[in-house]
Amino acid sequence: MNMNAANIEEIVKQILANMQGGAPAAAPVATPAGEIPKTAKVAMLTQLEKFEIKEYPMPEVGDDDILVKVEGCGVCGTDAHEFKRDPFSLIPVALGHEGTGEIVKMGKNVKKDSAGKPLAIGDKVVTCMIFKDNPDITMFDLNKQNVGGADVYGLLPDDDIHLNGWFSDYILVRGGSTVFNVSDLDLDSRILIEPCAVLIHAVERAKTTGILRFNSRVVVQGCGPIGLICIAVLRTMGIENIVAVDGEDKRLAFAKEMGATKSVNFKNHKGIEALAEGVKDAFGGYLADFAFQCTGSPVAHANIYKFIRNGGGLCELGFFINGGDATINPHFDICSKEITTVGSWVYTLRDYATTFDFLKRAKGIGLPMEKLITHKFPLEEINEALAVNLKMEGLKIAIVNN
Ligand SMILES: [Zn+2]
Repeated sequence: MNMNAANIEEIVKQILANMQGGAPAAAPVATPAGEIPKTAKVAMLTQLEKFEIKEYPMPEVGDDDILVKVEGCGVCGTDAHEFKRDPFSLIPVALGHEGTGEIVKMGKNVKKDSAGKPLAIGDKVVTCMIFKDNPDITMFDLNKQNVGGADVYGLLPDDDIHLNGWFSDYILVRGGSTVFNVSDLDLDSRILIEPCAVLIHAVERAKTTGILRFNSRVVVQGCGPIGLICIAVLRTMGIENIVAVDGEDKRLAFAKEMGATKSVNFKNHKGIEALAEGVKDAFGGYLADFAFQCTGSPVAHANIYKFIRNGGGLCELGFFINGGDATINPHFDICSKEITTVGSWVYTLRDYATTFDFLKRAKGIGLPMEKLITHKFPLEEINEALAVNLKMEGLKIAIVNN
C-alpha cells in the first residue's frame, strides 16, 4: 500500500462521511490511489461492427473531475445501432452509457452528487448527462424537458482523454456532468437504472392523463425489456390488474413473474377483432382503462386502440427511433372513443433519480429484476456481446468487469 498524503486525506473524508451517515456502513474503506494503474482499457468502436480494446494513459484528474473504475455497463439498442450503422457518425467512439462503477479518485472541488448526496472515494456512481447550462433541463422542476438529445458519456466523439464511454475499465467523469451516488444499489440494479428511467418517465407521463389509478385495468403491449420493466413499475405503484400482450410464450411467462396478472399471445388470435376479444376476456369482459405501447411496430400501434375502453388512455413509448408510419382510423380510434394519448421519450433528470427508489421497491416486493440481465460478457468479448444483442437473443446484455 502506498499511503501518500492525498490517500490519507481521502480516508479521513470517507470516515467523516460515514460518521455523518453520508455513506452506507458497508462502503469499503478508501481504495488507495496507488492502486490505480498507469493505463486504462477502452473498447473503441474503430469501424462498423468492430470494437478494439485500446490502452490509453490514465488521464489527469482535474479539481472538478471524478475517476471511476467501471464495474459494468448495459448494452443499449442505441449501442447496437451505432455498432451496425454509425447513424451518429461518431466512429471512432467509446460507447456505453448504461454504466456504473466505483470512485477511485476525485478532484478537491467534488463534494456532492447532482442530488446533493455526499460523494467519497469508494462510492458507487452512475452518470446521466453532461450539463450544457440548459435552463430547461433541471433536477428539481418536474415540468422541465427530458434529457433526450443531451450529451451523455458513451455517445461522445473521441478526444485526447479517450475515457468517454462506460465500455472500458476506467471513465473520467468531468466537472459539469450529472453524477449520482447509488452505493445503496447492487450492481445489477445499477446496470438497469437507465432503461428503468425510461419507464419511470413513461408512467409519470401516463399519470398526467388522470386516468391511471390503483384499480385501473392496464394492458402492456410488447414484453421486451421495456414492456417487462413497465409492468414492474406499475406493480410497484400498486396497480394489480395488468394484461401483457406479446407473440412469445417465454416472454409472456416472464411478464407474469414481473407482475402481469394475465397474458395474451397475439399469435393465438387471428385478426385484430379476435385479439381485442382476447384482451377483453383477460380482463373478465372489460376493455383496458389504460394501455402502454412498448413495441416498435407500426401495426402494434394501430392495434392498441382496439384494446382501450371509451374514455381510456394510451401512452406510446415504443418508437424510441423512427419505425415508420402507422395507419389508424381517427374517428373510431380516437374521436368517438375520446382516448387521451401521451407520448413518452427518454426521461427527465428528476425521473432518473426517482428510478433509484423504484429499483429498491421492486426488490422489496420480490420482483426478479436481476433476471432481466440474461447475458454478461467481459470487456474483451464486447464484439460477441453486440452480436448477441443484434440477434435479439435474451433481454438485457451487459458488460461486466471483474
Ligand atoms: Zn440506453
